[in-house]
Amino acid sequence: MPLSLSLAVVLFSTFACALQAELGTPEIDFGAKTCCNALSSLLPGQVFWPSSGRYIAQQSSYYSGEQATMTPACRVSPESTFDVSRILELASARKCHFAVRTGGHMAWTGASNIGSEGFAIDMQRVKGVELLENKSVVSFGAGSRWRDVYALLQPENLTTVGGRVGDVGVGGFLLGGGIGFLSAEHGFGSDNVINYEVVLANGSVINANREQHSNLYWALKLGSTNFGIVTRFDMLTFPQGLVWGGSQFFAIKDAPVLLERLVTFTEKLATDPKGFFGLSLAWNPEAKDYIIWTLQTYLQPEPYPALWSEFVSLTPLVDMMGIKSLVDITEEFQEADPGKRGRSRWLSMTYKANAQFHLDLHAKGIELFEPYHDHAGVHWAVSVQPIPARFATVAAENGGNPTCLRESHGDLWVMLITTDWLDPSDDNIMNTNAEALLTWAENEAQRRDLFSPFIYMNYASGSESVMARSTDHETLKKMIQVKKTYDPQDSFDALWHGGFKLPQNEGQKPAMNYDRSEL
Ligand SMILES: Cc1cc2nc3c(=O)[nH]c(=O)nc-3n(C[C@H](O)[C@H](O)[C@H](O)COP(=O)(O)OP(=O)(O)OC[C@H]3O[C@@H](n4cnc5c(N)ncnc54)[C@H](O)[C@@H]3O)c2cc1C
Repeated sequence: MPLSLSLAVVLFSTFACALQAELGTPEIDFGAKTCCNALSSLLPGQVFWPSSGRYIAQQSSYYSGEQATMTPACRVSPESTFDVSRILELASARKCHFAVRTGGHMAWTGASNIGSEGFAIDMQRVKGVELLENKSVVSFGAGSRWRDVYALLQPENLTTVGGRVGDVGVGGFLLGGGIGFLSAEHGFGSDNVINYEVVLANGSVINANREQHSNLYWALKLGSTNFGIVTRFDMLTFPQGLVWGGSQFFAIKDAPVLLERLVTFTEKLATDPKGFFGLSLAWNPEAKDYIIWTLQTYLQPEPYPALWSEFVSLTPLVDMMGIKSLVDITEEFQEADPGKRGRSRWLSMTYKANAQFHLDLHAKGIELFEPYHDHAGVHWAVSVQPIPARFATVAAENGGNPTCLRESHGDLWVMLITTDWLDPSDDNIMNTNAEALLTWAENEAQRRDLFSPFIYMNYASGSESVMARSTDHETLKKMIQVKKTYDPQDSFDALWHGGFKLPQNEGQKPAMNYDRSEL
């Protein structure tokens, strides 16, 4: 592994552990066991119990260690839409509790796994990728990883708005929006979905698109675990050859200049939306110093195009940029972030592109986390990536989505706080400090008139009120109505654990007191 990648791995990844030893022998809830027995009769050979190799393999393939140590009564692996339909029919009829997992990359505990009170539906075998409509559409099973989709598209010189790491699941990514290399031009991944095949709470299977079940189609663009289990996505494809991209690492002293230039870069995406530039200010426990990690791509095989003119004069410590395929880059990023086995907490918010704010956020992080740098496995980072105003324009062009993003809000940055540690006795202090950093950021962004209510679901923690904050009042009302239409018994609220739930009614107050009309 090249030195620079090793550095990335140290920074952003991974702590091996003996998962089985951690799991122990879970106690199985009686009701859940009855549900699992019924599932076993329904789908013989597709239900796995805690002692089995398949159960352990599925558990150990979650991205975060905390998700992996939850112990569902059993795990079921549907192989088709029909299997998913029978599972949901059974769950609704018998009031069985369950969680749904595709790529298992949502990091917070219980996002896509469940304890002994229920079973986990593991979608990984609902696969199959094909090109349709003269290759203008790619259709894939919801259990696919982005790597599977790109493997079919790349030889055709095509791509779509998917994940930037090959292992990320298509399911969670698209049901939370999804930001990819093409997003400055084509918006969220979900803005490019033209059809969802979805299984409803009563087991019925429908297709949601602009013509059929169009309200459900619109709601699924930020659907999370509210409306149904998606079994197939059909997405638009785009021609794509080689690109210029990779990672560069910079000394932390370069942060003020890099962030100022990222503001300009974000503005310039309005005229050249082929670029992506994400940046992390991170604690590097090996070097015992801070470092800047950047991920960059330009969708042409052209080093330092005009869009990068601001950055040319800066010299990186490590430079891994080059002419590559997007698939090569997703695999590089995969190698840099293969999965965690320790404790972790992600939190997210959005603000108007602003360099000083991000520097001050980092300074606040230093104040909060520095006293714990010598604790086992502690590292943390504050990252940003642009959400140019064009995201809202594209969404509108594609029939709209439920987010509260509007072109008039201007250029935004999505911020991600990532914290990692190893010792469970540090849970309290690390979680408290991560929350304190977010609270500081939200209050300070409001004070400086930089605040956006939008919380990017795919980076958020379960403690954040994503649905209430990321939509406006009318949108939320419409989503709740759509939910009542397609899940009239409210089964999913009661039985489906994980993800980000809609509030029961639109009058429910968002977690924060803010005036959206001022934005
Ligand atoms: C290393 C890494 C790289 C990442 N890169 C990106 C990136 O480039 N861009 C970006 O936007 N985000 C990125 N993310 C965030 C990622 O999009 C989210 O974590 C996303 O939820 C992952 O989807 P998943 O299927 O792997 O996760 P899972 O944990 O399996 O699922 C996430 C949520 O979706 C629900 N869900 C999954 N499948 C279905 C389905 N078929 N029907 C209904 N509900 C379902 C689950 O119940 C769960 O609540 C990254 C995360 C990691 C850890």
